[in-house]
Amino acid sequence: MDDSLFLMGSALFLPFSSLRLKGKAFLDNRENSKEYPSYLALDKKGTLSEREEKLYSIYENCHLCPRDCRVNRKEGQVGRCQATSRVKISSAAPSFDEEPLLVGKSGSGAIFFSNCGLRSVYSHDYKISIEGEGIEISDQKLAEEMVKLQKKGCHNINLVTPTHYAPNIVSAIQKAIPLGFRIPVVYNTRGYEKQETLQLLDGIIDIYLTECKYMDSEQAGKYSAEAYNYPHHAKLAIKEMYRQVGDLKLDSRGIAVRGLIVRHLILPNRIAGTEKFLIFIAENLSKTTYINIMNQYQPRYKASEYPEIARSIKRSEYNEALKWAKKYGLTHLAR
Ligand code: SF4
Repeated sequence: MDDSLFLMGSALFLPFSSLRLKGKAFLDNRENSKEYPSYLALDKKGTLSEREEKLYSIYENCHLCPRDCRVNRKEGQVGRCQATSRVKISSAAPSFDEEPLLVGKSGSGAIFFSNCGLRSVYSHDYKISIEGEGIEISDQKLAEEMVKLQKKGCHNINLVTPTHYAPNIVSAIQKAIPLGFRIPVVYNTRGYEKQETLQLLDGIIDIYLTECKYMDSEQAGKYSAEAYNYPHHAKLAIKEMYRQVGDLKLDSRGIAVRGLIVRHLILPNRIAGTEKFLIFIAENLSKTTYINIMNQYQPRYKASEYPEIARSIKRSEYNEALKWAKKYGLTHLAR
C-alpha cells in the first residue's frame, strides 16, 4: 500500500483532493428540488402519519428491534432496552465528533437517546445507553429540539441510538415540519436493526449511519448481552438501508445529504470479524460504499473482565484492516 495516500491522523484512502472530486461527482441534484429532504414528500402524501400510527402500534407488543421482547410499552412495561413509550434523551447539541461530511462547518445536530437494546460490555456511553441517564420529553418537545438545532446552523439531525424510540421520532419529525424543519435526518445506529422496522422508515431517513459490529454470532452473544442474532439482522439491515438510500451523496458544499455510511469498530484479536465485514460490503453493496473503519476502541465499562478485549487496538491491526479494504476494492474510506 502506498502510504503517501494517507493524511496525518486520518484514514482517508484517497488523497484529500481526490475525495473532494469524488464529492463533486456525488453531488445530489435533488438538493434544490421539492423532494429534498425526503420526509417532506411523504408528509405531503399523508404517509408520515400512517407510518407514525403503525410504529406506535408496535409499542403494544414491542418488536421494534431483533430482541423481540413483545412487551406493552404503552402500559409502561419495559423490554431489554429498558425504555417505555415516552422518549428519553440525554442531550441535544451540535456535534463535531462525527464524520467530516456530516459535520461541515456548523456541526451535526446530535440528539442522544437514552437506553439501548444492544448493551455491549465495552459500551463507551454506558451511562446513557445502559444506565439510562437522561430526561423524558414529549414528542412535541423533541420536534422543537430538532428545529432549535436547525436554527443553530446544524447540517442535519443526527439521531444517536434511535431505534427503540422510532415511533416518537417519526411523530416528532411530523410535528417539526410545520415549525420549518427542513434538514436531513441521520439515523445513527449500532446496526442491531429489524428490516421490518427500517421499511417503516423508508423515505423518512435521508442518511443511515450504521455500525456493523460483529460478523460472528458467538462473539455478538458474548459481548453484547446474548445478541447472537446480531450478524444475521445487521446484514439484512445494512442491505435494506442501502436499498433505501444508496451510496453517499454530497451537496455542493461537500456535506452529506443522502446515503449510507457504515462504521466498523475494530476489536482486539480480530473479534469484530473485520475481513468478513469488508468482504460482505464489497460483495453485497458497492465498492464505493462510504466506510469508516474505526481504530479508537478502548476497553470501557466491563471490558476489563474479558482479557481478550481488555486493550486498545494495535497499529498492526488497523493496518491489516486497511490492507483488506484495498484488497476487496473498497475505495471510499474515511475516519
Ligand atoms: S425496542 Fe426495546 S422493548 Fe422493543 S424489542 Fe427492542 S429491546 Fe425489546
